[in-house]
Amino acid sequence: MLIVMDQSARPEDIERVCKVIERLGFQARPMPGGQRTAIGIVGNETALDAARFHGLPGVRETIAVSAPYKQVSLEWKRERTVVRLDNGTTIGGDGVVIMGGPCSVESEEQLLATAKYVAAAGATILRGGAYKPRTSPYAFQGLGEGGLRILAEARRRYGLALVTEALDETSAERIAEVADIIQIGARNMQNFELLKKIGRLGKPVLLKRGPASTIKEWLLAAEYIVHEGNPNVILCERGIRSFDGSTRNVFDTAAIAVARTMTHLPIIGDPSHGTGRRELILPMARAAIAAGADGVIVETHPCPPEALSDGQQSLYPDQFTEMVSALRRIADAVGRRLVDPLAQVAQSS
Ligand code: PEP
Ligand code: MN
Repeated sequence: MLIVMDQSARPEDIERVCKVIERLGFQARPMPGGQRTAIGIVGNETALDAARFHGLPGVRETIAVSAPYKQVSLEWKRERTVVRLDNGTTIGGDGVVIMGGPCSVESEEQLLATAKYVAAAGATILRGGAYKPRTSPYAFQGLGEGGLRILAEARRRYGLALVTEALDETSAERIAEVADIIQIGARNMQNFELLKKIGRLGKPVLLKRGPASTIKEWLLAAEYIVHEGNPNVILCERGIRSFDGSTRNVFDTAAIAVARTMTHLPIIGDPSHGTGRRELILPMARAAIAAGADGVIVETHPCPPEALSDGQQSLYPDQFTEMVSALRRIADAVGRRLVDPLAQVAQSS
């Protein structure tokens, strides 16, 4: 960070800023110029809070030299992060990964039926919420612990990895024992204490973008997790709020392309929540992969009209299978390949 002093700054103002930098444990490098002095900070491994300097006498502005989301930035690490799961699935790198399943786990019958066709279609990760963040307290809140048991059974039978959402620290601990990836939902993207806790649990994390979050805020949320020592974060674009009611959210495919220029973390798209409309899932899933996403997460249900949550944005089983074939073609067209479940079995056995 560079601290630019005002033209009228006095030597004691410069001295004070240098002292603050030193008290923070870093070295100050004042650079007197023709008009004003700039002070460089040397030795900080993590990003600094610029607000510490705002308002000090004689300080005009601070200029960030590196991104505030330091460890997740591409300038920090050029090599793209690849998250590896126990069933052999990799997220990031060349592969394109498909995650599918219902919005909520509703019953053993529903989830096992879904897991069966999701695996047969070529997906390698099963989604399904056991703890559900619902806008209304009267809506289905999920099966909780019972849902986790059903998910574990599906994982055992079909070899699929599991992703499921944690709402708080207690559910996060339980999910870490059962699932392969802990999902942090859009509503919790800036629940900083939860992010720290998840970082310490050490399990891969799927971090959804908040419905009104900038890409920078999203990356700073990821930074919280990585800063706790957990490098395995997967970003998920799931649509942001807009003035236009034609879709539930605006699925921001540009954010996928933009984030790829800013971070080494894998990024996937969620066209189910991104659009809220079943008929838009296929085109937007294709768009996500074409835009550079490392995969998609899509809601699907054996009988969407009977779903207890998000049926309108869940694919029918045959539509899910068709989507996987379509995405295989898109992946090929952009020089990538679908993560192959058979290769995984070979790798993990
Ligand atoms: C979900 O995945 O079912 C969900 C609640 O997603 P989001 O946090 O993106 O709304
Ligand atoms: Mn949902």
